[in-house]
Amino acid sequence: MAELVFFSGTVDSGKSTLALQMNYNHSVRGRRGLIFTSHDRSGTAVLSSRLGLQHEAIEVDPQLDFWEEIVRRKTHGEAIHYLVCDEAQFYSPEQIEQLARLVDEMGIDVFTFGITSDFQTRLFPGSRRLLELADHVKPLQVEALCWCGKRATHNARTQDGVMVVEGEQMVVGDVDQRAATGYETLCRRHYMQRMTAGRARQIPETAELLPFDLPPV
Ligand SMILES: [Zn+2]
Repeated sequence: MAELVFFSGTVDSGKSTLALQMNYNHSVRGRRGLIFTSHDRSGTAVLSSRLGLQHEAIEVDPQLDFWEEIVRRKTHGEAIHYLVCDEAQFYSPEQIEQLARLVDEMGIDVFTFGITSDFQTRLFPGSRRLLELADHVKPLQVEALCWCGKRATHNARTQDGVMVVEGEQMVVGDVDQRAATGYETLCRRHYMQRMTAGRARQIPETAELLPFDLPPV
């Protein structure tokens, strides 16, 4: 039975590495698959991981219809047993529905990888649809840690090193602007306190961290 699986994690949870591993595991067993990604960190249609592994991928732009794309390829004789879909948080809810249909009607396994919520703690639309439709949701085993050592559950966005809580869900803009944007995973407490590792270093260890004691951003 084919399945729609959602591997969810935070920014640093190693999901692209796992996506590449998943593709490898299936391909060595003679299965044929396609890799999709969106807005990869390399800036091209390549799935790349922080560990330096990479693989050619198909870019998922808003116009892509997964159903039509797979039908077209199969019509041309291509064998497709599974899809590896990275950065699935950026896919539209309609694209997630197309993936579910491929599972149900064509028996194709679909392994999706993505971040559940954005830097404002809100679910990405694509991730929400996956949580609603997936046969299995699997939190990634390689769990990211906050600077304090607790499990990191929240994605903080930084702009020029300072945590921001307002802005577009995705950073669009010129290269310089995007380069100044960073992400840091934090536990919920430190997310709420806007206490990034950089800010924590500026505060004496002995200081009791109460919200009203925090230095101005
Ligand atoms: Zn923390």
